[in-house]
Amino acid sequence: MAMKNKSRLPPGRIRLACRRCDRDDHDMIAKIPADWSDVERVQTYRESIADVAPGDIEHSILDWFTHVGCCPACRHLAPSTKHDEDYDEGF
Ligand SMILES: [Zn+2]
Repeated sequence: MAMKNKSRLPPGRIRLACRRCDRDDHDMIAKIPADWSDVERVQTYRESIADVAPGDIEHSILDWFTHVGCCPACRHLAPSTKHDEDYDEGF
Protein backbone atom coordinates (compact mmCIF):
# COMPACT_ATOMS: atom_id res chain seq x y z
CA MET A 1 0.00 0.00 0.00
CA ALA A 2 1.19 3.45 -0.77
CA MET A 3 1.83 5.69 2.15
CA LYS A 4 -0.02 8.90 2.35
CA ASN A 5 2.55 11.58 2.05
CA LYS A 6 0.55 14.43 3.44
CA SER A 7 2.50 17.52 4.25
CA ARG A 8 1.71 19.57 7.29
CA LEU A 9 2.92 22.66 5.58
CA PRO A 10 0.26 25.11 4.58
CA PRO A 11 -0.07 25.69 0.86
CA GLY A 12 2.22 28.28 -0.57
CA ARG A 13 1.12 31.81 -0.95
CA ILE A 14 2.71 32.42 -4.27
CA ARG A 15 0.25 32.39 -7.10
CA LEU A 16 2.37 32.48 -10.20
CA ALA A 17 0.98 33.13 -13.64
CA CYS A 18 2.69 33.26 -16.99
CA ARG A 19 2.34 36.49 -18.87
CA ARG A 20 2.35 34.67 -22.18
CA CYS A 21 0.09 31.70 -21.66
CA ASP A 22 -2.90 30.91 -19.53
CA ARG A 23 -1.45 28.20 -17.35
CA ASP A 24 -2.57 28.23 -13.75
CA ASP A 25 -0.74 25.19 -12.47
CA HIS A 26 1.56 27.27 -10.28
CA ASP A 27 -1.17 28.58 -8.08
CA MET A 28 -0.48 28.39 -4.33
CA ILE A 29 3.13 27.36 -4.54
CA ALA A 30 5.67 27.90 -1.79
CA LYS A 31 8.44 29.41 -3.82
CA ILE A 32 9.22 30.71 -7.26
CA PRO A 33 10.49 27.92 -9.50
CA ALA A 34 14.02 28.55 -10.68
CA ASP A 35 13.11 27.88 -14.29
CA TRP A 36 10.73 30.79 -14.57
CA SER A 37 12.19 34.10 -15.62
CA ASP A 38 11.31 37.73 -15.21
CA VAL A 39 9.12 37.02 -12.24
CA GLU A 40 7.72 40.05 -10.53
CA ARG A 41 5.21 40.53 -7.79
CA VAL A 42 2.04 42.28 -8.77
CA GLN A 43 0.02 42.10 -5.60
CA THR A 44 -0.03 40.47 -2.22
CA TYR A 45 -1.64 37.12 -1.53
CA ARG A 46 -4.24 38.86 0.56
CA GLU A 47 -5.08 41.15 -2.31
CA SER A 48 -5.25 38.25 -4.72
CA ILE A 49 -7.92 36.47 -2.73
CA ALA A 50 -9.91 39.57 -1.87
CA ASP A 51 -13.28 40.04 -3.43
CA VAL A 52 -13.42 42.63 -6.14
CA ALA A 53 -16.35 44.94 -6.03
CA PRO A 54 -18.33 45.39 -9.23
CA GLY A 55 -17.13 48.50 -10.96
CA ASP A 56 -13.76 48.47 -9.26
CA ILE A 57 -11.49 49.53 -12.08
CA GLU A 58 -8.30 49.15 -10.11
CA HIS A 59 -8.72 45.46 -9.49
CA SER A 60 -9.83 42.60 -11.64
CA ILE A 61 -11.25 39.25 -10.68
CA LEU A 62 -9.04 37.92 -13.43
CA ASP A 63 -5.98 38.96 -11.47
CA TRP A 64 -5.87 35.80 -9.39
CA PHE A 65 -2.10 35.75 -9.32
CA THR A 66 0.38 37.39 -7.00
CA HIS A 67 3.32 37.08 -9.36
CA VAL A 68 3.73 37.03 -13.10
CA GLY A 69 6.66 35.74 -15.04
CA CYS A 70 7.65 33.83 -18.10
CA CYS A 71 7.23 30.09 -17.75
CA PRO A 72 9.77 27.56 -19.03
CA ALA A 73 7.57 26.66 -21.99
CA CYS A 74 7.28 30.24 -23.09
CA ARG A 75 10.93 31.08 -22.56
CA HIS A 76 11.66 29.07 -25.67
CA LEU A 77 9.47 31.28 -27.75
CA ALA A 78 10.79 34.29 -29.52
CA PRO A 79 10.11 37.59 -27.79
CA SER A 80 6.53 38.49 -28.32
CA THR A 81 5.74 41.08 -30.92
CA LYS A 82 2.03 40.49 -30.74
CA HIS A 83 -0.16 43.49 -30.37
CA ASP A 84 -1.78 43.71 -27.01
CA GLU A 85 -5.31 44.00 -28.18
CA ASP A 86 -6.79 44.19 -24.73
CA TYR A 87 -4.11 46.40 -23.33
CA ASP A 88 -6.32 49.42 -23.57
CA GLU A 89 -8.11 49.11 -20.27
CA GLY A 90 -8.49 52.75 -19.52
CA PHE A 91 -5.60 54.39 -17.81
ZN1 LIG B 1 3.83 30.34 -20.40
